[in-house]
Amino acid sequence: MLRLLLVAALVLQTAAATKFDSNRAWEHLRQLVSIGPRPSGSPAIEQTRKYIKDQLAASGVAVTEQRWVDDTPAGKLPMVNLVATIPGARKDRIVIAGHYDTKRFPRFRFVGASDGGSSAAFVIELARVLKARRNPLTIELLFLDGEEAVNEVWAGTDNTYGSRHYVDAAKKDGSLATLKALILIDMIGDRDLTIRKDSNSTPWLTEIIWDAARRQKLDTYFLPGTTEIEDDHVPFVKAGVPSVDIIDLEYPQWHTAQDTLEAVSARSLQTVGDVVLAALPQIEARLGRPSR
Ligand SMILES: [Zn+2]
Repeated sequence: MLRLLLVAALVLQTAAATKFDSNRAWEHLRQLVSIGPRPSGSPAIEQTRKYIKDQLAASGVAVTEQRWVDDTPAGKLPMVNLVATIPGARKDRIVIAGHYDTKRFPRFRFVGASDGGSSAAFVIELARVLKARRNPLTIELLFLDGEEAVNEVWAGTDNTYGSRHYVDAAKKDGSLATLKALILIDMIGDRDLTIRKDSNSTPWLTEIIWDAARRQKLDTYFLPGTTEIEDDHVPFVKAGVPSVDIIDLEYPQWHTAQDTLEAVSARSLQTVGDVVLAALPQIEARLGRPSR
């Protein structure tokens, strides 16, 4: 009987550990925002990296840095992607990514609570949850630098520096072969969460995510309409990696001084966490099929 109780306690404990905890995610978001503006190449983004690495270490997740110097309209800028790996039964990887830089605005203070803060906070919390899970495929948590354009306007190659560098490096070292899917998280903090499908994303992966939202009765946030989004998933899509971008671009505070804690909510982070975790087994099942 005691043994049975112990087993039951262990099962309950595992269930708690494998649930997304938006209180934790919210605390990460608050800490990131308190650092202030975090543009690529700044001392503040170095501080941001330290925070992310400390949190991953606390969850027992190994992290490596991918460092390079990129040419930008503001000259050469040092950039760093953080790559955290949770080994699974197979070497094939599902990458869950989000950017952690914030856009530079010389004329106002931009702290990017949703844009840059929510994605990084979300992926930090997901690392904790997935570390406690039995993963059939290896999970890679990827924190991307340089998503934002250095110039005011998003154009040409002045954006998605981190994802382009990551995909180029993966092509060169052959690791692209084990990269089976990308789930990209961006701007999911909006209190009034509205996520639409993206026509640049891979249809089967999009359908699995939106099906999971329906099953979780969260389809009031994952809406049926489609828009076309240019984001960090595009370099992956071009390289043939099935990818989905989960983004709320209907955010009036986007790229304004009002993208602060007041505009975002823990509940939105919870919604996306619940949907991604509900979708993961379906994605794994699809990738587990021998003839694909
Ligand atoms: Zn942005």
